[in-house]
Amino acid sequence: MLKINEHYLKLQASYLFSDIAKRMTAFQEANPDKDIIRLGIGDVTHGLPTACIEAFHSAVDEMAEDSSFRGYGPEQGYAFLREAIAKNDFQARGADISPDEVFVSDGAKCDTGNIQELFSTDAKIALPDPVYPVYLDTNVMAGRTGGFRDGRYQGMVYLDSTEENNYVPDLPSEPVDLIYLCFPNNPTGSTATKEELKKWVDYAKENKALILFDAAYEAFIRDDSLPRSIFEIEGAKEVAIEFRSFSKNAGFTGTRCAYTVVPKECMAFDSAGNKQAIHPLWNRRHCTKFNGVSYPVQRAAEAVYSEAGKVQIQELVNSYLENADLIAKAIGELGFDYAGAANSPYVWIQGKRDSWEFFDMLLNEAGVVCTPGEGFGKCGQGYIRLSAFNSRENVIKAMERIKKALA
Ligand SMILES: *Cc1c(COP(=O)(O)O)cnc(C)c1O
Repeated sequence: MLKINEHYLKLQASYLFSDIAKRMTAFQEANPDKDIIRLGIGDVTHGLPTACIEAFHSAVDEMAEDSSFRGYGPEQGYAFLREAIAKNDFQARGADISPDEVFVSDGAKCDTGNIQELFSTDAKIALPDPVYPVYLDTNVMAGRTGGFRDGRYQGMVYLDSTEENNYVPDLPSEPVDLIYLCFPNNPTGSTATKEELKKWVDYAKENKALILFDAAYEAFIRDDSLPRSIFEIEGAKEVAIEFRSFSKNAGFTGTRCAYTVVPKECMAFDSAGNKQAIHPLWNRRHCTKFNGVSYPVQRAAEAVYSEAGKVQIQELVNSYLENADLIAKAIGELGFDYAGAANSPYVWIQGKRDSWEFFDMLLNEAGVVCTPGEGFGKCGQGYIRLSAFNSRENVIKAMERIKKALA
């Protein structure tokens, strides 16, 4: 008799997006003449930058000819892309990362989800609340938690991110082995300073722990004093892995390309207490289970670092950041406290009422869809997330409607 992995049964079905869809359908049926503006989704809305499209097209043409055709590429990614990443995203900012520490993949979701399989099942995990749900669910699947009780899994160490700590969690009060951090944060939009990240790096060193740093929204940082990479922090190469994605900066959510940086100095320990480098383990996992990102997609990603690509990406990100500013301004004028917007595409709003009550109010009275905060963790209760991923026109219209409805 074949038995299943019963840890899957502990997973809480996420009713969040199906509940949102149900409520939207009900509203549309009751109000067939009203249009709904979606500010709930974490997906980009603008087309790919021209530089990426041109590189993409010409790489597709190369694939048509025997003389320029490419079959299987290196599992870790082509050298042209790994070199462009190391040079532009790290070395240019004083972080000493070499191309062979960069692993190109088809998504930061898979990488942040897969990385945990390198570590023992009894590793103690700390993760922020609220945060992107992938880190938690993949550890539940792997059996690193007990059951779900009172909104939380037994055995997990939750790092509360609240108004009191400016949505940047404090160090855990008990020892942990593996720490997930995400800055700029999804959903709160909060950012961490160099001093704040230094505390985590020092903690990891003292506790022989490892930091998994998700920097998917790094391109939205406009404050030059803020770190874009954890590797800008001294000593981080020994205790941190970083995840990046072309999804949010260059609109690759449907094109699929991302990368993970595993420095060669980065260590964990075997049961005898000996140091073991993580780089060869991740390389082995990647080569065994993954066959590389398609060649045209890697050429499109390389174009992000061309002269034209850099300008186009700035424009793309700026247009979303201006949307975030418009949202934040309107929300502030209505008297709500909020976080985010300044260096992120998200505005995290303290609703002064239940998340779903706020959701229904925005939908029914303004025809605007948000994301209820509780979908990201217990600390999200009472909050909603508005996303800047939409057209300027729709954002302006949505904010006018919200102001009219709530004023
Ligand atoms: C969108 C997002 C990602 C990117 O995932 P991809 O699989 O590369 O599209 C990663 N982390 C967070 C927190 C995100 O919001």
